[in-house]
Amino acid sequence: MKSITRQKPLEEIRAYVKPFDRVYIVGCGTCATMTKTGGVDQVQEMKEEVKGFGKWVTGWAVLPTACDEMTEEDFKAAEEGLQHANCVLVMSCALGVHRVNSSFHLPTIPALDTLFIGLEESPGYFQEVCAQCGQCVLGETAGICPLTACHKGLLNGPCGGTSHGKCEVDSERDCAFTLIYERLKEQNRLDLMGKYHPPRNYHVTLVPKIVTVTLEEGIEP
Ligand code: SF4
Ligand code: SF4
Repeated sequence: MKSITRQKPLEEIRAYVKPFDRVYIVGCGTCATMTKTGGVDQVQEMKEEVKGFGKWVTGWAVLPTACDEMTEEDFKAAEEGLQHANCVLVMSCALGVHRVNSSFHLPTIPALDTLFIGLEESPGYFQEVCAQCGQCVLGETAGICPLTACHKGLLNGPCGGTSHGKCEVDSERDCAFTLIYERLKEQNRLDLMGKYHPPRNYHVTLVPKIVTVTLEEGIEP
């Protein structure tokens, strides 16, 4: 499972860093390195771009895992460059941006957009498989998530546009409900195809989602 990111347009990054003259750049050695959006090479390229904006790059670092709790410790090694900076440009997913933001007092600017949490289906090919909706229906949809596999995110389908097993939004892609149908058929569970899924209850998944995990009770709702 990986955070899939894409670099923001340079003009957007330029506008974000406009108020600052000294920039420290942070990459991530885990997901963003794998997706080639925040590894050493991309951070070095960004360094040149930021210099081209007329800014002083006071330093850079690729943290082993930007989103984890070691970020604050990792930052200590970069203290000198950070002391001279007045903003941190973060080339990691939004989790890493949050972590950097809470570990250091400087304004934090994301250089990437976080697209989704996905699985690498084949080398370099990432697919969203879960939108973390908090009310999982995989047990009744043959393990295929309709919210992410269907272009319209339908819980009940198919829609009227499905044609020869393909999706009306993108005819190159299989309709999610064809995939669900075929898999349920293999499993002799086709009766589930007719089951109605009520609309998601947003009351039980208020944002921000928060859970408490204790040794005694595990996760408390
Ligand atoms: S239904 Fe889909 S989005 Fe919701 S938890 Fe299950 S896999 Fe994730
Ligand atoms: S054709 Fe299938 S996958 Fe495409 S939007 Fe309709 S139900 Fe969803």
